[in-house]
Amino acid sequence: MYAPPVQRLITELGKLPGIGARTAQRLAFHLLRADDEEALALADAIREVTERIGLCEICFNLAEGSRCTICADSRRDAGLICVVEEPGDVIPIERTQEYRGRYHVLGGALSPIDGVDPEDLKLAELFARVENADDPVREVVLATNPTTTGEATALFVADRLRGSAPEVTVTRLASGLPVGADLEYADEVTLGKALAGRRAL
Ligand SMILES: [Zn+2]
Repeated sequence: MYAPPVQRLITELGKLPGIGARTAQRLAFHLLRADDEEALALADAIREVTERIGLCEICFNLAEGSRCTICADSRRDAGLICVVEEPGDVIPIERTQEYRGRYHVLGGALSPIDGVDPEDLKLAELFARVENADDPVREVVLATNPTTTGEATALFVADRLRGSAPEVTVTRLASGLPVGADLEYADEVTLGKALAGRRAL
């Protein structure tokens, strides 16, 4: 129906989460109408992140280079590790200004029904980090989302650490977070309170 380059753009846009066929088409036409500079700025931004941004070798947060800014900051408490699902979850926790430890980004949550098993997440890396740390880890804060898969992931990590690192305190964010919601959308006051009131798991 469209010239192949236009169809290709619609197809690629349609692969983005939350973008249906109609929206993909609308965005494609917007880009075709926009001046070249504006459209190419988007293409350049995509190229730049794919070329320059990777995952931190320690915590798997987004990083420019081998380590993220948090792992590279020696003032951050290495004895405290906050476990989150996605890099996007680090931002709201940082915004609370309640947390001075480090992070560990799993890259998702356990969901056997969707084919997400422990080996698909950065779980082995987390356990190795806690069990073989040079600076002993005192506490692991489980800040996975308050959803079924997030809870299952938190329980899995708590269970494993109870066996392999019993000296480490494992805590979960306090309730007050809306059940079923994503951490990413929590306001910083609610999230700050949840962090301050975390409980042992
Ligand atoms: Zn890092």
